[in-house]
Amino acid sequence: ARTALIAGNWKMNTVLPEALKLAAAVKDASVGAPGDVAICVPFPFLESVSKVLAGSKVGLGAQDCSEADKGAFTGAVSTGMLQSVGCAYVLTGHSERRSIFGESDALINLKTKKVLSAGLKCILCVGELKEQREDGTTDKVVAAQLAAGLKDVSEEQLGSIVIAYEPVWAIGTGLTATPEQAQDTHAAIRKWVQGAYSAAAADRLVIQYGGSVTPETVDELMACPDIDGALVGGASLVADKFARIVNFKA
Ligand code: 13P
Repeated sequence: ARTALIAGNWKMNTVLPEALKLAAAVKDASVGAPGDVAICVPFPFLESVSKVLAGSKVGLGAQDCSEADKGAFTGAVSTGMLQSVGCAYVLTGHSERRSIFGESDALINLKTKKVLSAGLKCILCVGELKEQREDGTTDKVVAAQLAAGLKDVSEEQLGSIVIAYEPVWAIGTGLTATPEQAQDTHAAIRKWVQGAYSAAAADRLVIQYGGSVTPETVDELMACPDIDGALVGGASLVADKFARIVNFKA
């Protein structure tokens, strides 16, 4: 059986006092949570949030990393830096990194491999655009993102990968995929992993859904057999909403 993972992605929100308060609330809310919990917070707050989360079950995550180890890369943040301040998770391939920052599948693959080689867990995000869902090409688009993002990732390394399925049209829009739409795509992702790796690897893989997850939608989503967690944006910034989401009822 897979352990669920509910992760918050704060994106570019909060200032330090808000971050500390929110992290403390997540820590308290997660004590009896049925699955694993993580929060992906802005770089400047990682170290202080790490202290808030110490001794709790809440894992610390970053929202991005450099594909390089160190050196003359002004403004970039390495996986070594992230590890040294207590990070356990790094997001790669988020749709905002793809669309706003122009990250290619090839760059996402380099970042993903860098996260894995640092011994961190990687949450690799995939998902189709609205036109692609309407065209019926969702599974094909997602399969291509998986193939590119996981290029040269071994089956052993796949054990440190979580896939977040985030349909782009559902992110920040209030339009959640229906549990049926999400389940179908999650099943297609698991099937792809079975073909590319093995049945055992597919069975172990944690696949999160992301896109307008709220306290109202989380239980139904989590009840789907191939939905093993959620990656939560907006609702992760509201302490009582995220508290309810981490304590989903399956
Ligand atoms: P929302 O929950 O705000 O739709 O964001 C989803 C997301 O992009 C999480 O990474």
